[in-house]
Amino acid sequence: MHAMMLKKAGQALEWTELADRQPGPGEIRVKVGACGVCRTDLHVLDGELPYPKSPIIPGHEIVGRIDALGAGVEGLRMGERVGIPWLGHTCGSCPFCRGGQENLCDLPLFTGYTRDGGFATATIADARYAFPLGEAGSDVALAPLLCAGLIGWRSLVIAGEGQKLGLYGFGASAHIVAQVAKWQERSVFAFTRPGDARTQAFARRLGAVWAGGSDEMPPEPLDAAIIFATVGDLIPLALKAVRKGGRVVCAGIHMSDIPSFPYRLLWEERQLVSVANLTRQDGIDFLRLAPEIGIMTETTPYMLDQANQALADLRAGRFNGAAVLVP
Ligand SMILES: [Zn+2]
Ligand SMILES: [Zn+2]
Repeated sequence: MHAMMLKKAGQALEWTELADRQPGPGEIRVKVGACGVCRTDLHVLDGELPYPKSPIIPGHEIVGRIDALGAGVEGLRMGERVGIPWLGHTCGSCPFCRGGQENLCDLPLFTGYTRDGGFATATIADARYAFPLGEAGSDVALAPLLCAGLIGWRSLVIAGEGQKLGLYGFGASAHIVAQVAKWQERSVFAFTRPGDARTQAFARRLGAVWAGGSDEMPPEPLDAAIIFATVGDLIPLALKAVRKGGRVVCAGIHMSDIPSFPYRLLWEERQLVSVANLTRQDGIDFLRLAPEIGIMTETTPYMLDQANQALADLRAGRFNGAAVLVP
């Protein structure tokens, strides 16, 4: 097999040949058809997340077909198309796992961060965390659902039922969440980098009722806002944009420091919460709903060995929607 491997944080990924691995008990081997590129991959690349596996094969939006089954795998078959998300393994016995919050597990493994991921021709996964995907839709189109979609979905649920929803940072996640929110008959207000007319037009095309710069106030107070951008300065701006009792959800795994702000921005029962990881139930719920909603992902495909270019383009915001690597 081949992989684009991160040998040391801060360096470019390297095209690497590796021996084919056999899946262990409870594992599957998947021939990768497509793997989305997520902002979290940039944080792994930059060494901004603690205790990564090193060297590591990044990538946690994997779509592929099972080409080897380990002992004891149930409910999956050879040749079946599956999705492998960020949540790669949980302990099943810590208080969080037992309490239905496996996203907060004390001893988790995360795909492409603490276990090898999908910037490769093949990958090994814990079978219990893979989602059967069926045959509708292309591998490339489905890949962004596995993290951008799933984390977006969890963030949307945590944002509550509010009608007026702000989305800060209109990238891969927001472009999926906007379609879900529109389907739920909510109004989406999209906030982009100031002056980014291209992304604002993209947001309007996906049904946003208003799109502007993150330095602007929406035309009316929001019920909730989700921050997908990794910029702590957005938190006081989003708090200012939500109504009394409104909620601001931080969806990213990493964010620059939050500047100090006057207490009155939080006053009147505004809430500030973060979203971490996903549960398998999030995946089941969202992947069942996605075809019903008819979510269309906007993707820019790259060959696997162009992963460094894809990551650079993501960092610079050079495309709409999501980059996807194709082996
Ligand atoms: Zn656990
Ligand atoms: Zn991700």
